[in-house]
Amino acid sequence: MYILLMGPPGAGKGTQAAQLVEKFNIPHISTGDMFRAAVKEGTELGQQAKACMDAGQLVPDSVTIGIVKERLAKQDCKKGFILDGFPRTVEQANALTSTLTELSIKLDRVININVPAEDLVSRIVGRRICKACGATFHTVFNPSSLEGKCDKCKGELYQRADDREDTVRNRLSVYEAQTQPLIKYYEQNGLYTEIDGRQEIHKVLDDILESLKGRSL
Ligand SMILES: [Zn+2]
Repeated sequence: MYILLMGPPGAGKGTQAAQLVEKFNIPHISTGDMFRAAVKEGTELGQQAKACMDAGQLVPDSVTIGIVKERLAKQDCKKGFILDGFPRTVEQANALTSTLTELSIKLDRVININVPAEDLVSRIVGRRICKACGATFHTVFNPSSLEGKCDKCKGELYQRADDREDTVRNRLSVYEAQTQPLIKYYEQNGLYTEIDGRQEIHKVLDDILESLKGRSL
């Protein structure tokens, strides 16, 4: 099962990916992990990527695509994968299409777990984390019994800088602008399915599995 997984930050993509890994016994390949692995293995492309990152520069598409290609050619991808965080642009999507053709892989589905921006803002902005033990709470959905204090260890709760409203809104609008052309691209290929990420976790998974019905396992 070859799945491309999309979804805005905070939509619960990681949770769903973990369940799909278990269900289909295929690897979850995120861009971040892939880069870290290539750098660690010290492949030529990994070294090039590291040089760019160390210099604070964007890693060029040619390098990124090369790393993706090396990863997808590995043995553990023979029965499928869940690709997450790549492609980010239509150029990368085109490159991925040719790479997959070269590897004789046919993408089964492009799944977008979508949650409207307003819902994401309230999900993310309410997150609180314990400074002492790392436990997570939510001001609305999972509040601690004493405001600002951890239920487990009485530690102080704080909001990550990344979770502040202006930062979140900015991140989401960048994501949306980036993603729209990709959605169009995969709609035209007839591979695109949008899943309502506002539902309960098990319902989101059911919808994903439904969209994969009739595909090769
Ligand atoms: Zn705590």
